[in-house]
Amino acid sequence: MKHWDVIVLGLGGVGSSACWHLARSGLSVLGIDQHPAGHHFGSSHGQTRIVRQAYFEGVSYVPLLKRSYEIWDELNQHVSEELFVRCGLLQIGPSDGVVVPGVLSSAETHALPVVTYGSEELKRLWPGICCASDDVGVFESNAGFVHVERAVVTQLELAKSEGAELVHGVRVVGWEDGSDGVSIFLDDEKHNARQLVLALGPWSSSWLDGLLGFKIRVLRKYLYWFESLPGRMQLTAGTPCFFHETPSGYFYGFPEIDSLGVKIAMHSGGELVEQPEKSDREGVQRGEDFEECLRYAGSYLPGLKRRLQRQEVCYYSMTPDESFIFGRLKEHSRVIVAAGLSGHGFKFTPVLGELIARMANYQELNFDLAPFSPSRLIASE
Ligand SMILES: Cc1cc2nc3c(=O)[nH]c(=O)nc-3n(C[C@H](O)[C@H](O)[C@H](O)COP(=O)(O)OP(=O)(O)OC[C@H]3O[C@@H](n4cnc5c(N)ncnc54)[C@H](O)[C@@H]3O)c2cc1C
Repeated sequence: MKHWDVIVLGLGGVGSSACWHLARSGLSVLGIDQHPAGHHFGSSHGQTRIVRQAYFEGVSYVPLLKRSYEIWDELNQHVSEELFVRCGLLQIGPSDGVVVPGVLSSAETHALPVVTYGSEELKRLWPGICCASDDVGVFESNAGFVHVERAVVTQLELAKSEGAELVHGVRVVGWEDGSDGVSIFLDDEKHNARQLVLALGPWSSSWLDGLLGFKIRVLRKYLYWFESLPGRMQLTAGTPCFFHETPSGYFYGFPEIDSLGVKIAMHSGGELVEQPEKSDREGVQRGEDFEECLRYAGSYLPGLKRRLQRQEVCYYSMTPDESFIFGRLKEHSRVIVAAGLSGHGFKFTPVLGELIARMANYQELNFDLAPFSPSRLIASE
């Protein structure tokens, strides 16, 4: 039986990046996933993800995002059609709300270029997107979106080209931390490694129960694609991504990039589930938030027609403080966990993969990862 340096469980956003960085660092890597590469059952699908640096969620995320940007740019060099498209991001809301002050604070602390506009200027610049008369818009031109499934598949291809062995369509049923390494169990097989990476996305909860001091809450979320009026919301017409704090919640959307139309979704809310189920995807006509998204579009997106072209289900993995779970498990130091990315983790996946490789090689990490420590909430009890 082959003994690996590292086994990575889960080959979604985080696992694909981890396999690439681990393999390119010279370690022998086995990556395993229950579904095919770039599948639509977990958290890393649905065409696009917003990537941004002026982070309203906290200034401490920005150094990680700066490094992620460098790796996104490197990934762009490996593909013929860009993975990361810098079309800009417009973040809108009240000047005393959560989003606008948060964006401005991160921009000021880390000298990130952003421009602030009032509602009339916004209407003139982007007639497809409206806001309340007293709202403010902050435009980050360096932000944009990534093609999410293509990013996963590209990183897996790069991992393979660096020598990683990747297995799809196989479900792992358990792991054990032994005296000379870690073992993972499939239905009728066992693999051993010096270290184990758990990157199981919305399936993480049952694997981490009792090890974190809290339960990861899995939320079922919906994505909706609508047709748009010609020339109003296309990427080619200069439409940016947008994120909007409104009295009814947080909404976001993307410019139209192909015949599927404009994708919009609600960031707040969500339906609590135990874990992703394939059956969630079958026969679901509308999400519970569909009417709210329609109302949002009716009030703020005059460039959108009301015809739904497509709907997808996807899952957030929420921690109590909405910070990631990232680092070695206190009781099992051979096990590195990346989970609970709380609905905002994809933009970080390049740097998380690189940091996993640095951890596995016992190298310096150069970032303050204490806010993401898997034991942070056990310690405070
Ligand atoms: C609707 C939606 C919108 C989002 N928007 C953004 C955004 O704009 N910007 C942003 O930065 N982030 C965003 N996010 C968050 C981001 O997409 C996620 O944080 C990220 O994709 C999580 O990646 P992951 O690798 O943790 O999980 P996943 O990609 O789900 O990977 C987990 C993998 O583990 C595998 N697995 C699980 N159990 C087993 C097992 N027992 N055996 C074998 N394999 C197993 C699964 O098959 C899966 O492939 C969004 C998320 C959603 C759902």
